Order: sequence, then C-alpha cells, then structure tokens
Amino acid sequence: MTLDRRSFIKILGSASGVALAGCAGAPAVSSGSAGEIMAKSGRRVVVIGGGFGGTIAAKYVRMLDSSIEVVLIERNKTHISCPFSNFYIAGLTNDMSSLTISYDKLAANHGIKMVYAEVTTIDPAGKTVVTSAGTLKYDHLIVSPGIDFRTEEIEGYNADTANTIPHAWKAGEQSTLLRNQLQAMPDGGRVIISMPLTPYRCPPGPYERSCLIAHYLKTHKPKSKLVLLDANPDVVSKKPLFTKAWNEYYKGIFEYVPGKKVTAVDAAKKTLVVEGIEDHKGDVVNFIPPQRAGDIAVKAGLTGDDKKWCPVNPITFESTKQKFIHVIGDACAPPSAGAAMPKSGYSANSQAKVCATNVVAMMNGRELVDLSGINVCYSAISDHQSVSIAAVYAVVEGKITAVPNSGGISPADFSMTELEHVYGESWLRNILTEMST
Ligand SMILES: Cc1cc2nc3c(=O)[nH]c(=O)nc-3n(C[C@H](O)[C@H](O)[C@H](O)COP(=O)(O)OP(=O)(O)OC[C@H]3O[C@@H](n4cnc5c(N)ncnc54)[C@H](O)[C@@H]3O)c2cc1C
Repeated sequence: MTLDRRSFIKILGSASGVALAGCAGAPAVSSGSAGEIMAKSGRRVVVIGGGFGGTIAAKYVRMLDSSIEVVLIERNKTHISCPFSNFYIAGLTNDMSSLTISYDKLAANHGIKMVYAEVTTIDPAGKTVVTSAGTLKYDHLIVSPGIDFRTEEIEGYNADTANTIPHAWKAGEQSTLLRNQLQAMPDGGRVIISMPLTPYRCPPGPYERSCLIAHYLKTHKPKSKLVLLDANPDVVSKKPLFTKAWNEYYKGIFEYVPGKKVTAVDAAKKTLVVEGIEDHKGDVVNFIPPQRAGDIAVKAGLTGDDKKWCPVNPITFESTKQKFIHVIGDACAPPSAGAAMPKSGYSANSQAKVCATNVVAMMNGRELVDLSGINVCYSAISDHQSVSIAAVYAVVEGKITAVPNSGGISPADFSMTELEHVYGESWLRNILTEMST
C-alpha cells in the first residue's frame, strides 16, 4: 500500500468517526406525517434496492460487523430475476417462480431490517433518505437501484408505450406481456427486437433473447421471422459464439441488422423509426430503450456529467459526487481501463461484497481492501446449450481493469455448450439463494 493510500484511509476513518459522533443520539428525523421509520440509536447503513447488488451489500455489512444496523429499502415484496427471464419469455419455463425471491429469510438470518417502500429523496447534507413510509437517517448509504430508461430521447414514447411494445428489460409483468404476445402471434408473423447503444444492462442479454425467441419460432411457428435491430455497429458481446448460433441454428428465421438506432416509435402501429428515415413494422415489437442509472440516483445528483451513470471510487464505490453514499450494480460507473465491468448481476454481486467490506472498514477506521471482482455471464443459445464470457477485475492505477488472460469466451466449436447450460442453471440457483438467505 502506498503512503497516499494510508493517508486516504486515515482521513476516511476519522471522517466517518466525526459523522458517527454527530449522529449518535440525534433526534428522530421528521418526515411529514410518517416521522422516522425506526429510531436511530447506533451506527446505521441504509441500502436502497433489494436486487442483485443491494441484497448482497446488506447481508455482507451485517456479516462483517453485526453491531451495525442495516436497513434494506425495496419497493416490492419480492424480486424477480432478469437473468433467465429470457427462458420464460421464449416459453421454456412455465412461470417465474424459479426467478422470484422474497426477503424473509435474508432478513431473519442476518438481522436486516426490511422497509418495503419507494425511496423518493436522498438528502446527502442531512444524511437522510425519504421514503413513502417515512424518513431514515444513515451513516453510510449504499444505492443499488438498477436502471431506468431514457425514453425522453425517443420521439413518440409515452407512459403507455411499453404496454404495446414491451421492453421486458425489467423482469415481471413486462416479461409476461412479451411472452403472451409471442404466443398469440400467428405463424408467419414478424418479430422485431431493438437494442440500444452500449452501455446498457447485460451486454449479451439481447443476443441471448434473439436466440431463444428464434428457438421458439423455429419450434412452434416456423414460417415466422425475427429481426434484431442493433444500434451498435457490431455485436458487442461473444460475437463469434452468437454469430455461429444464428448461422447454424436459426438460418432463414433470424436476421441480424447492426447500426440501426431507433429514434422514434409508433406503438399503435407497432413501428420503430431508425434515424428518421427507415420504418420497421412488426407483429410483435420488443423495444429496449437506451438506459441510465435508476431514477433515484439521477434525482439525488449521483450521476456524472452525462446524467446517465454514477461515477464512483473503484475501491469503496463511494460516489465521487456525494460523500458517504456508495453506488453499486448497474447504476455505477467506476473509472475503467479498457472494457468496463459489464452491467450484470454477477458484477453487482462482486461489487456489493467489496463495497460492504470497505463501508465496514471506513466505519471502523480500518484499512480498505482492493477490489477483486469477477464476472461470468452465461447466455443460452438454444433450449439446452449455453455459452459464457468471464473475466477477473482488479484496480490498477485507480481504474478497474480486466486482469490479462483471466477469462475469455467459450470454445468456438461449441464442445462445452451442453455442460455450460447446466453451469448456467446452477449459477442462477446459487446466486438467488445467496441473495435470499
Ligand atoms: C433479459 C436479461 C437477462 C440478464 N441475464 C443476466 C445473466 O445471465 N447474468 C447476469 O449476471 N446478469 C444478467 N442480467 C443483468 C442483471 O439483471 C442486472 O445487471 C442486475 O439485476 C443489476 O443489479 P442491481 O442491483 O444493479 O439492480 P436490480 O437487480 O435491478 O435491483 C434494483 C432494485 O432496486 C429497487 N429500486 C429501484 N429504485 C427504487 C426506489 N426508488 N425505491 C425502492 N426500491 C427501488 C428495484 O425494485 C429493484 O428490486 C440480465 C438482464 C436482463 C434484462
């Protein structure tokens, strides 16, 4: 560790101590009618978002220091996993029960206090979070709200658009809507998937979706066609593997069209407009809009100059905009050398553990640990085959960097695809169990 890092840690430690002294015994914070949800007696970490990042951050803070009170705020009583929701959309699973977790065991096992409410405001100066159920004071706040959509950039997109041309990029009702539309479509219909420019949640996700929907059409509606309009100039993830799957399994059904950035929609006519010049009409249209950090992060001023993603310190995940607030998961944008850590559930899980460790270190004046991040993304290419991409990440000269030769993609000859399908399924079971117990 360098001298600079040591001084940094010392400063962080003492700053945290000052804040704690200031908060101890502080009067309950008023929140209009509801008042403070829980009286604050000791040190408290508040976590916003009970998804892939937030559950793990909450759990690890408690596991690392049970004297710290942890409050996890989530708007829903259950969380539905985006990973594997493409299987459900493509009719390969009957319901979303295997994708759904609740928080009861997590809360009971680790003494996490659950608040089921919408966070409406973060006040960094007052170190408080305002929710639909009342207000909470925090010493450190961990924000993992996932993504929201930049629909204001799309002409013709309004509050009802997703009811006709679903995004299905947040799992739940949207996944069911897209699945039902596919099932109702007559054989011979045309399906369009439109995906945005990077960065967006789950780089390989749209390509996996294209394979699984193509598989559905090939199996059930072989006269139908599927078009993937990619706003990017080329396939952004696992290119040789997806290209091979499209060519070998879905020729005649599937067409990949790069460089097609949708700028306007006409939901009633199920039509997408590319750069004002080309219309693409489908019987089923899955329009995935461009994305940014979840609304609460934007509203709290945690996003950078681009107003899209939240810049953070790559070791503590503390916001570079607001002290004592840490942003993890899809919403964050740590400084990166080369390819950034992908916006995946696996990355969010890795970041949550490092963030929790360093939040506890900051609160106890202890030394920070460096990031050791892992990402593995499995993508199905058919009902029984999957491919993967993997990398290990470390902080080098203040930037998150993929460790050379630490990962790669599956063998190009597809010799591992059936085995990787099993690995993918067990990864999902493991990570959802880790999040919910
Ligand atoms: C189709 C698809 C397939 C995918 N497949 C994979 C895969 O195979 N592997 C993989 O690793 N990743 C995959 N991903 C990506 C993965 O879903 C995300 O990267 C991951 O969910 C990010 O975690 P997060 O904690 O940032 O956000 P989330 O998991 O979305 O959690 C955010 C939580 O915050 C809550 N929240 C937000 N705002 C508020 C508020 N104001 N008040 C209260 N609660 C709030 C939300 O309700 C939500 O529960 C996939 C994504 C998609 C769309």
